[in-house]
Amino acid sequence: MKLQKWCAARRAEGRRIALVPTMGYLHEGHLSLIEAAKRRGADEIVVSVFVNPVQFGPNEDYARYPRDEKADLAKCRKAGATAVFFPTPENMYLPGHSVYVNEEDLSRGLCGARRPGHFRGVCTVVAKLFNLAHPNFAVFGQKDFQQAQVIRRMVRDLNFDLEIVVSPIVREPSGLARSSRNTYLSGEERLRALALSMSLRETKLRVAKKGSLRWAAESARIAKSLANAGLRVDYVEAVDAETLSPVKTLRAGNAVLLAVWDGKTRLIDNAVM
Ligand code: AMP
Repeated sequence: MKLQKWCAARRAEGRRIALVPTMGYLHEGHLSLIEAAKRRGADEIVVSVFVNPVQFGPNEDYARYPRDEKADLAKCRKAGATAVFFPTPENMYLPGHSVYVNEEDLSRGLCGARRPGHFRGVCTVVAKLFNLAHPNFAVFGQKDFQQAQVIRRMVRDLNFDLEIVVSPIVREPSGLARSSRNTYLSGEERLRALALSMSLRETKLRVAKKGSLRWAAESARIAKSLANAGLRVDYVEAVDAETLSPVKTLRAGNAVLLAVWDGKTRLIDNAVM
């Protein structure tokens, strides 16, 4: 592929390559990953824009996922990306494609349990992007907390020779975590969605104040405030930030992860205490 040749030539010149994988419809969250790549001293910043069919379930939003190639290209340029990769599904998955990457531990719970096959699709496409770009490092967002941990594990267990950088969640002034899927939300749904970041903020403050919290009681509080806001809870979980195993007592360093349905839109958010 052209990208593979281009990256190999840059690497041969001794240039440090950063990869920023995305599904496009870029927003400030994505652009912050490009910024992080710059700060880390990348000479070339490759942004991939690919709505990966393999990571979507049959009843998910693959077909209607927002796309805007022109705007994405302009944003990448402005943010300082030096290459943008827009593969087609046909280029990424040749006829008869039959090799997939499965992470079998960290991807079992949370979004993995609710979206069967999701992380198999994510790992497969990210492994392919790593092989195409051979980056020195790749930047992911903490917005997809479980994804970042699954990718780290894949890199460790399959000996990919690169570093994974995880960059903080970028939020709207209201607190809502930026997401391409926010475009699905009506004005009313947007207001309801604020309960996600608000409950995370409250829990974080309570942990800071009390040192630790019984998760059974705290998760019930969170679930109630999400439901009161009109959101349908998919999961409310507290985990060890490295192993993603559930914790019974919530302490500093643990992660709280939320997934809800806001009308027909599934939203996720998280915070490290
Ligand atoms: P996506 O296009 O949604 O697949 O996201 C591509 C990358 O951008 C992933 O590593 C995400 O975690 C990251 N990302 C998405 N939204 C945000 C955000 N609000 N803040 C930081 N990173 C984000």
